[in-house]
Amino acid sequence: MASEEHYYHSVRLDKDRCTGCIHCIQRCPTQAIRVRNGKAIILAERCIDCGECIRVCPHKAKYAERDTIDIINQFKYKVALPAPSLYGQISRVRDVNLLLNALRGLGFDDVFEVAAAAERISDATKKFLKENKEIPRPLISSACPAIVRLITVCYPNLIDRIIPLHSPMEEAGRLARLRAVEETGLAPEEIGVFFITPCPAKITAIKHSQENERSNVDGAVAINDIYPALVSQLGKLEEQEDIQHAGRIGISWGMTGGEAAGTFSEDSMAVDGIENCMNLLGEIEDEKLSRVDFVELNACMGGCVGGVLTAENPFIAKARLNHIRKYLPNSMNSVSDGELDEVVTEKRPEEIPALRLADNLQEAMEKMNRLNELLDTFPRLDCGTCGAPSCRALAEDIVRGYTTEQDCIFRIRDELAGSALKNAVNDIIPPPFRKKEE
Ligand code: SF4
Ligand code: SF4
Repeated sequence: MASEEHYYHSVRLDKDRCTGCIHCIQRCPTQAIRVRNGKAIILAERCIDCGECIRVCPHKAKYAERDTIDIINQFKYKVALPAPSLYGQISRVRDVNLLLNALRGLGFDDVFEVAAAAERISDATKKFLKENKEIPRPLISSACPAIVRLITVCYPNLIDRIIPLHSPMEEAGRLARLRAVEETGLAPEEIGVFFITPCPAKITAIKHSQENERSNVDGAVAINDIYPALVSQLGKLEEQEDIQHAGRIGISWGMTGGEAAGTFSEDSMAVDGIENCMNLLGEIEDEKLSRVDFVELNACMGGCVGGVLTAENPFIAKARLNHIRKYLPNSMNSVSDGELDEVVTEKRPEEIPALRLADNLQEAMEKMNRLNELLDTFPRLDCGTCGAPSCRALAEDIVRGYTTEQDCIFRIRDELAGSALKNAVNDIIPPPFRKKEE
């Protein structure tokens, strides 16, 4: 199994809390979790930091490693980048300015709305789609880093479909630093730019950027961590400056459909929820969607308002975003033709060969044959008692040399057929799967 040093992940396991209950293994979309010796293990090469295991673990043993707000004090000038989803977190906030000023009250010198950068990306996306008709369709949004990572692990044939434009977070980080340098005269490294994040995938995208050599963002503070202090700041505000500079399109990026709507194309579509996204990516691989121009994919249900590091019910947050955006202009930001190069990513995502059985085709075929043979000997119950999420995953682990057939208790029972030990083994099998001797 590849070591964790090769792949940074914000999603981690707290071993002390893990009871080995196997709840998480079948919910992981990339089958990245095994349970061994009573504790979960995350296979670093497969994990996409989607946060599903954080959501489902009943013992809070999975968590996202993130920065605390104190980190901003390491810099002379601090800028907050609020995600559009933040606007839907707090009740009675009808005026975005109130929220942005409250953020400054937490110790930031400036606030740069990610929603403003999102409007530039919407404009750039429209232009890119129009000017690059020769690229096979549909093109796929680069905004959700869990989806980008999912494509690099499970759908590498689709990497070229990922639109080569900055995510709004990266674009906001770039513009925020430029503005701070211009306004303060400080060196770029004296300025700290921090994303207020709804999800762990964005944290990973900062530490290990898939779009730039080095991220334009210095760190990430979770929405649910700053939520209490932010609410308290709102109560203390005496006067507020007019610093809002994003319209309806930018704020809509906080929920499913906002990005697709920003392309103003009937041939754009939006999907949310990791399983739905995987189904759709399968259809794109099979060339069933070539009439669709652009696809917005969100790993979380509801879009970023559904991220595991948010504080509010996603449906309530969505209703608030709808209300807030109602009285705003359509858009307050665009990209001129001369600026288009600035929003193009420095590098492309690279395939992570986590699912390849071998680099050599013949060896890979042999391993696949062995895998299928093994699978035929397993009960196909996908019960998880072996610590793998499915019988197929166990067969794959055996072929890769990670474990042995002895992990399958049903195999052991079958091997003991006719011996006195068979009933003893049957008795320790979980009740739904026991078989009484006729
Ligand atoms: S759900 Fe996974 S991480 Fe949580 S306690 Fe159970 S095995 Fe451990
Ligand atoms: S973060 Fe997602 S991909 Fe990673 S282990 Fe958890 S469920 Fe699996």
